[in-house]
Amino acid sequence: MPNHDYLIIGGGMTADAAVKGIRQVDAAGSIGMISSEQHLPYNRPPLSKALWKGESEEIIWRKTPTENVTFYRSVMAKNIDPSENKVVDENGMSYSFGKLLLATGGSVRRLPWNVEGVIYFRTLDDYRQLRRLTEHGETFVVVGGGFIGSEIAAALGVNRKKVTMIFPEEGIGARVYPRSLSLFLNSYYGSKGLQLFANDALASIEKRDGKYLIRTSNGKELVADGVVAGIGIQPHIELASAVGLSVDNGIHVDEYLRTSRPDIYAAGDVANFYNPALGKRIRVEHEDNATSMGDTAGKNMAGSSLPYHHLPFFYSDLFELGYEAVGELDARMHIVEDWKREFREGVLYYLSESRVRGVLLWNTWGQVDAARALIAEQGPFDARNVKGRLPV
Ligand code: NAP
Repeated sequence: MPNHDYLIIGGGMTADAAVKGIRQVDAAGSIGMISSEQHLPYNRPPLSKALWKGESEEIIWRKTPTENVTFYRSVMAKNIDPSENKVVDENGMSYSFGKLLLATGGSVRRLPWNVEGVIYFRTLDDYRQLRRLTEHGETFVVVGGGFIGSEIAAALGVNRKKVTMIFPEEGIGARVYPRSLSLFLNSYYGSKGLQLFANDALASIEKRDGKYLIRTSNGKELVADGVVAGIGIQPHIELASAVGLSVDNGIHVDEYLRTSRPDIYAAGDVANFYNPALGKRIRVEHEDNATSMGDTAGKNMAGSSLPYHHLPFFYSDLFELGYEAVGELDARMHIVEDWKREFREGVLYYLSESRVRGVLLWNTWGQVDAARALIAEQGPFDARNVKGRLPV
């Protein structure tokens, strides 16, 4: 049975950051990484952004250290035996560990039809599949108006494909951006040649002669060469809940990223942690959280005692528009908009209970730390005293 001082379940950005974190504290301890991916860890954000703007695939690799690190690829961990510090994979192979990290991320939500070739965009293989389709295909349907939907639709648009977006909300990113900005994005995407079916959903989809035939709930009909869906993920908590770890919207960890079992840690998309600036538990599905949390988990597994108090930021590219954002961005909050140029450049403050809970830095750069500091301030804040707090 392989025996590792540190065993990591998951092979994404969090897992890579954890290996690097471990190595900063323990130069030699043996590390095992069990991953359902056939690839070594890579960066996900370029898959829906930079790789569609001419960057080569080479930029994605995270160059995980390999010395005394064993990668178990294309295999799923099946269960954990916490009393024996043991993990068993789907083939019945057992691994023993000193410390275990659950960096299991999430799995894509699927449409109710099992139609061959629909791309639930998340992995490098999904990117490659879509890239191959674009070599001959011209028409694409993108389902979902969240992060993946908005980025992939823009990426395909930049590559001169005919794109139709279908999403249930009134506007692109409607759960995150204020209504005015979300509706602006609809018209902006329209001006780039995309067709948008907002307030709509897929009613049926079938594949005939290599084409996808789609009907929507509003009675629209489409034929497409490819269908990409980005309709959210569900955190992979099954391994944790099966052994009684505390789980609720992700795996609960303490400030040192330990689960309710002291030898088992969790980090990344799957981990539910307390953030002091927001004063509440959160679960975050973005790159900065994956890498920062993975790093801290790795160091703590190797003997450090570093509290994870980081408030992660995230970012996106939508054609020529781009932004960075920090904290909680919920379109239902009171949003104070401070535009230098409306919908092109500005700072948006998300207020709740007289505190700044989140900041959207729309085409405004270099203000992430200032935004974090503002979110940590007690306030009270309102529309009058918050406007202008960060330079536009
Ligand atoms: P997402 O941002 O949560 O968006 C999913 C969208 O799909 C939501 O608008 C959702 O609407 C909609 N939806 C749900 N069920 C649907 C259905 N049956 N038909 C049509 N639309 C449906 O998730 P995602 O775009 O799939 O992204 C996956 C994960 O990757 C997320 O965790 C995201 O944070 C991460 N990601 C991040 C970035 C970034 O940081 N820039 C980029 C790409 C991906 P409802 O909310 O109404 O259900």
